[in-house]
Amino acid sequence: MHMIVCHWSLWLNFASRWRGKALWTRTPSRIVSSKQGATLRTRASLGAGTLFPLFLSVVLVGSAHAKLSVVCTTPDIASIAFALTGDLAEIATLAKPTEDPHFVDAKPSFILKLNKADVLLEGGAELESGWLGPLLVSARNPKLAAGSPGRVSCAAGIELLDVPKTLDRSQGDVHSKGNPHYLVDPTNASRVARTIAGALSRVDPMNAAFYETRLELFKTRLESKVAEWERALAPYEGQQLVAHHNTWQYFARRFGLKSELFLEPKPGIPPTPTHLAGVVAKMKAAHVRVIVVEPYQSRKTAERVAAQVGAVRVVDVAQYPGGVKGTEMDYVGLMEQLVKLFAQGLSRPGEPR
Ligand SMILES: [Zn+2]
Repeated sequence: MHMIVCHWSLWLNFASRWRGKALWTRTPSRIVSSKQGATLRTRASLGAGTLFPLFLSVVLVGSAHAKLSVVCTTPDIASIAFALTGDLAEIATLAKPTEDPHFVDAKPSFILKLNKADVLLEGGAELESGWLGPLLVSARNPKLAAGSPGRVSCAAGIELLDVPKTLDRSQGDVHSKGNPHYLVDPTNASRVARTIAGALSRVDPMNAAFYETRLELFKTRLESKVAEWERALAPYEGQQLVAHHNTWQYFARRFGLKSELFLEPKPGIPPTPTHLAGVVAKMKAAHVRVIVVEPYQSRKTAERVAAQVGAVRVVDVAQYPGGVKGTEMDYVGLMEQLVKLFAQGLSRPGEPR
C-alpha cells in the first residue's frame, strides 16, 4: 500500500511540474490525440504496471478528444485564449495585428472558420459591429448564435469608459456603446481571461479543471508584472499623450496618464484641418511631448502635427501582439513593450530612454 501511495504522489508531482514547465513556452504543451489516448488506455488495461503513471499523466494533461475550434476576432483575445487552452484548442484570429479592428477586411475564409467554430470570442461593445454580423449570417453556425454558450463577448463584466450620454450615430462614431479598447489595461485582461475560461469550461466541461489551472497561472504571471509597470510609468504621472484614435484611455487610467486629445475629431472619423489646428493649440498649451500612432493610422499626419507643436516625439505603438516590432510574443510581452514605448515617448530629452 505504501508503495502505491508513493507512486501516486511521485507521478502527480512529476506530471504537475512537467505541465507547469510547458505552460509558458511558445510551443504549446504536448497533448495526446484521441487515437493516442485510446492506445495508451489499451496498453494500460493489458496490465503493464509501469504504464499506469503514463496513463495518469494523460488524464492530468487534459482529456483526449477532438480539439476545440476557437475563433477570436482580434489577436489580443487570441493570445489570452491560447494561454488558457494550449494545445486543447485550434485558435484562429480574424483581424491582423496591424489592422484597424473597427474596419477589418473580411475575407471568404473567415466564413469557413466561423462555420466550423465551437466558440467565438469577440471584443464586443460594438468593436466588430462594422464587419462581423454579415460573416456570421453567411457562416450559418447555430453554436455561435446570440445567447449560445459558444458566443462569447469578452466585454461582459468590463466597466466601459466613454459611454455616450445620448446615442448619436449621425457622424459615424464607432464607439457608440462606450470605448471598446479595454484590453490595453492588464486588469481588464485578467477579467477577460476569467470570462474566457468560464466559457471554455461550459462548452468543454471535461477540461474545466485544466482551464482553471491555466487561468490562475495566467493571472499570476500578469498580476506580478503590473506593479513593475506602474513603477516604470510613475515618473510621468499626470502627463498628457496624444493619440490618433481613442485606443489608450484604459491604459492611461491604469498608469496615471491622460489621454484626452485625438487627431481624429470623433472615433472613426478622419482628421480635418480645423480639428488638427485646435489639437496643435491645445498641445502647445499643455506641453504635450508625445503622439502615439498605431500601424494603420497616418504617421505623416502625426509628424506634421508634431512639427507644428515642436519638441514632440511620434512613437509607434500597437494594441495587439505583433502589431509593432518587439510585441510578437504574447499579451504580457505586448504590455511589457508598450510600457517601455510610452515611457520612452514621455521622457524628457536627456533622460535615459
Ligand atoms: Zn475604437
